[in-house]
Amino acid sequence: MATYKTVKRECLIDFLKSHSKYSFTVREIAAEMSSDNTIKSVPSESTVYRLMREMEREGTVRRYIDPKNREYVYCLAGNDDIPVNMRCKVCGNVYTVDGETSRRIKEEIVSCGAAVPADSIEFLVKCKNCSE
Ligand SMILES: [Zn+2]
Repeated sequence: MATYKTVKRECLIDFLKSHSKYSFTVREIAAEMSSDNTIKSVPSESTVYRLMREMEREGTVRRYIDPKNREYVYCLAGNDDIPVNMRCKVCGNVYTVDGETSRRIKEEIVSCGAAVPADSIEFLVKCKNCSE
């Protein structure tokens, strides 16, 4: 199933980015966002819950249990930092994919229903030198 890039989703990601040092429960996210009048589109608690589960599956956020109150809390996973590399099948050289392209690759992976691995993504190619 494709991921829908909604305004609420973008606002939610912006909120998590601007509070990236903290983790929040779904209830806290909904409450914090509704008290912030700079946010264009405030999602309801059930929408936050649905979006967080969706983003957890694609690796955008991480969920864990807060040991203090045994509640699920979420924080941004830093998916942007996961490197995408191309390895040449012929010579074995590894090439790094630039940020914008790697972001698109991760989006494609997610839109195919797969998840972005936590460490790195690597795919096999025939590099420029070897294809000449
Ligand atoms: Zn090569």
